[in-house]
Amino acid sequence: MKIAVINKGKIVIKETPDIELNGRQGAIVKVLGCGLCGSDIVKFVHKISKDGTVLGHEIVARIVEINSKTNFKIGDEIVTSHHIPCGECVYCKNGNVSMCEHFKSTNIVPGGFSEYVYLSEEHLKNVAHVKPENLTDIEASFYEPLGCCVRAIKRANLRGNATVLVVGLGSIGLMMAQALKAFGMDVMGCDLIPDRVNRLRNLGIAACNVKEMDPNFKADGVFMTSGADKAINTALKYVRNGGKILVFSSTPNNWGYANNEIYYRELTVLGSYSPAPVDLEDSLNLLRSHQVKVAGLSTVYPLEDIQKAFDDTMNNRIMKAYIKIKE
Ligand SMILES: [Zn+2]
Ligand SMILES: [Zn+2]
Repeated sequence: MKIAVINKGKIVIKETPDIELNGRQGAIVKVLGCGLCGSDIVKFVHKISKDGTVLGHEIVARIVEINSKTNFKIGDEIVTSHHIPCGECVYCKNGNVSMCEHFKSTNIVPGGFSEYVYLSEEHLKNVAHVKPENLTDIEASFYEPLGCCVRAIKRANLRGNATVLVVGLGSIGLMMAQALKAFGMDVMGCDLIPDRVNRLRNLGIAACNVKEMDPNFKADGVFMTSGADKAINTALKYVRNGGKILVFSSTPNNWGYANNEIYYRELTVLGSYSPAPVDLEDSLNLLRSHQVKVAGLSTVYPLEDIQKAFDDTMNNRIMKAYIKIKE
């Protein structure tokens, strides 16, 4: 089977022996496609992942071999995420599932940018679902990233009708804004790129160029989905005193939130990383009901062009890449 691996600062296609169940519990799935996540880019650019690593986790796939106590069967088209919390450790008990050691150690094998993947029984039991029939493969591939947004919204724990600002309208920001609206909040989005502002407006949600924001606008909660350090100033400017900033992206220079602003203005700054199984279920419902629309966000690349998908994403030439893996 073909896999895409990191090799000396590049992503290259390699041939490797087919992955098999060999008596294990779980399933072998044929990957139909896999979204390229911002975290894949970070792992590649900052060399966090070693040579030989297969990135990718936002998969849509078809079961081709199975040995499981679950109801899944051969031929089912499914979505899944990659990590599973243990449910019992200090992190899980306090709601910080993404910090759980078991969560961090579980993964799909070898990774999403591969023709075939092994899913453990634990994946099938906890984080896999049959793909809803009314979603295209590309739409369904947003199951995991939208789950991350859902968790961020829950962690912010704002009132139902709170005023919120989404800073940064890439694919994550556009999903976050729609999910916040679905949770009943009064949503505004901002970005520097006119096309992105228009995309949110076309979804029926208020949006504004950062340069044209009303200086008197104040949000109860600011959701930071921009990967730019300067966006931190935008968040601090538009959060009301006593408000919350939800940090949902890494920034290249790792600027901080000023201590004295947090202190004198009684701000809450909190981070949110990866979703729990319950957030993933909510995500699937938001996609299925089209309360969060993701059609038209992705640019499709064949596996052979995966390096171009990485390059185009890094250079902001596209909103989101989807790697289609042929039958
Ligand atoms: Zn992701
Ligand atoms: Zn745990």
